[in-house]
Formats: sequence, C-alpha cells, structure tokens
Amino acid sequence: MTKGHCLCGAVSWKYSGTETWACFCHCDDCRRNCAAPVVAFIGIPLTAFKWTGAVPKVYASSKGVQRHFCDNCGTPMAFQAEHYAGEIHVYAPSMELPNNFKPEFHVFYGEKLEWLHMVDDLPKYPQSKT
Ligand SMILES: [Zn+2]
Ligand SMILES: [Zn+2]
Repeated sequence: MTKGHCLCGAVSWKYSGTETWACFCHCDDCRRNCAAPVVAFIGIPLTAFKWTGAVPKVYASSKGVQRHFCDNCGTPMAFQAEHYAGEIHVYAPSMELPNNFKPEFHVFYGEKLEWLHMVDDLPKYPQSKT
C-alpha cells in the first residue's frame, strides 16, 4: 500500500499495487498549478486508488480536466481528465515516502523552463507520451 497526504494532513490517499507509470511533466498548466518549475506524477488506476481523509476540492483548469487540492492548506494533490479515463495522476511529492518515486520519463519537455537543468537519461517527450 502506498500512501500520501497534503501539507496539513487533512487530505490523504492510498493505493494498492503498483503505479501505471511515473514521470515528470513540464507543461505550463501543471507548473502553474503547483507554482513549481517541474511537477512529478504517478499514474494510478482509479480502481486501486482511494481518498482517505477529507475530500479534496476540485478546480476545472480546462474542459474535462479536474485538479484536486486541499481546501484547508491549498496543497495541489492530483489531476484527472476525461481523456485519461479510469486513471488518476497524483503529485508524487505528496507521497509519505517521496524518495520512493522512480521517474521513468519526461512529458511536455518542449515547455521545459530554460533555467531548469535536469541531469538524467530518461526519455524526453516534447508533448504527451501517446
Ligand atoms: Zn491540507
Ligand atoms: Zn502537465
């Protein structure tokens, strides 16, 4: 079981089994949502995932896209979209043990900030992976 929570602890989650994928996203929307130079995601089948504390608030950042965040402390928690039916993308740093995050690739590398330098040999997709 993998678990995670927001800064204040009101919102928490857990999932069983292994994640579908783990990646970095450099898109402008994710970056602004987290006010971070890059965001780290784990993709989880909705059937294996559960919110375990307070239910997060949802902001529809674009049509068919839901971004979940803690109503109390404001921590961004997850991304869900109609075009990724059946999965939820959780922000990896909310994991209880964020060092267990094992990134596999980068997406939207074409939008990467010029001053951000990441040294790795992972595949870098200019847009989404598929
Ligand atoms: Zn919170
Ligand atoms: Zn993104």
